[in-house]
Amino acid sequence: MKLGTKFIHAGVEPDPTTGAIMTPIYQTSTYVQQAPAQHKGYEYARSQNPTRTALESAYAAIENGAFGLAFSSGVAATDAVIKLLSPGDEVIAINDMYGGTYRLFTKIFEKFGIRFHYVSMQEADNVRPLINEKTKLIWTETPTNPLMNIADIEALANIAKEHKLLLVVDNTFASPYLQNPLDLGADIVMHSATKYLGGHSDVIQGCLVMNDPALREQLYFIQKSCGAVPGPQDCFLVLRGIKTLHVRMQRHCENGERIAHFLRQHPKVGRVYWCGFEDHPNYAIAKKQMRGFGGMMSFTLKDDRIEEAKRVLSSTKVFALAESLGGVESLINHPASMTHASIPREERIKNGLGDSLIRLSVGIEDVDDLIDDLNAAIG
Ligand SMILES: *Cc1c(COP(=O)(O)O)cnc(C)c1O
Repeated sequence: MKLGTKFIHAGVEPDPTTGAIMTPIYQTSTYVQQAPAQHKGYEYARSQNPTRTALESAYAAIENGAFGLAFSSGVAATDAVIKLLSPGDEVIAINDMYGGTYRLFTKIFEKFGIRFHYVSMQEADNVRPLINEKTKLIWTETPTNPLMNIADIEALANIAKEHKLLLVVDNTFASPYLQNPLDLGADIVMHSATKYLGGHSDVIQGCLVMNDPALREQLYFIQKSCGAVPGPQDCFLVLRGIKTLHVRMQRHCENGERIAHFLRQHPKVGRVYWCGFEDHPNYAIAKKQMRGFGGMMSFTLKDDRIEEAKRVLSSTKVFALAESLGGVESLINHPASMTHASIPREERIKNGLGDSLIRLSVGIEDVDDLIDDLNAAIG
């Protein structure tokens, strides 16, 4: 089945009692049993909810996986993955990652004796020297947030297999429209469904998709034992969002390309970070593993003072100054003080994320209005 058809029909069957084409919102906490332990597969809504079940099948289908699991946020999904580990275990993580993931790793899980090594994954072989007998998992994100670096998923998967490690890919930025990490050998795909999957800036949710039934059992056990499950209304919103993913992503990509090139030729713009430029350091890998380049990008101004960046950030009228990404509306963001404020400045600068970097989540408005808006703001 082609992507567009899959995104509309994935996981969704007409409601068996009424034929409703849209999955009903099963707003219930429990289910009546015929006799003790005799039921229709649903006992208590932390463990199972039919709206969530439909969404979980959709998650599996859109990532070409066997199983999907929904969580109350993207970080809750990440949290569940790290709970597969035990004290003393080690993780190799990409150095340029979502700030909240870094915070969860360093401030929560290090306390419980799990060690994280951070490394640039622009060369997959960079992870090799960090592998030892305690290493259990490689955590990567590609394209990265906000510098749009690319990691070679297939190369990392080969290294992971060689050493019997789990490879987990945060696929939030690409979305399943552009990239399917399980097809490239990853063990688990993670999404902040808050972003492109939901797509309308109205829900917080996360998911995991995997192929291995044993891994699914372990993660399902963590999901129900730790309880970070989304409610049925939120599941409905994401199910609805996924139906238009391909149409939205197509426009995100078109608008993204126009804006990346507009920024690059602007006399006041310094460097533009977008993985669709042919001179992007990992363009060949991006082209190999992605179907397009999306609407996420970052840039600096030639006048690199932070005051100048802040002036631009507060001057746009169509681009809203806000955290998050992947919604229909365009957003502008200052990673150093907003999405990535939880990363210590020294660490941030070392990884190439400067104080004056500006990040854009290009929406699906008319691109001419977006260009006019940026042009006026940059001045
Ligand atoms: C937003 C985001 C997350 C965290 O997801 P939440 O839904 O906010 O908990 C993780 N990774 C990436 C790349 C993100 O953009």
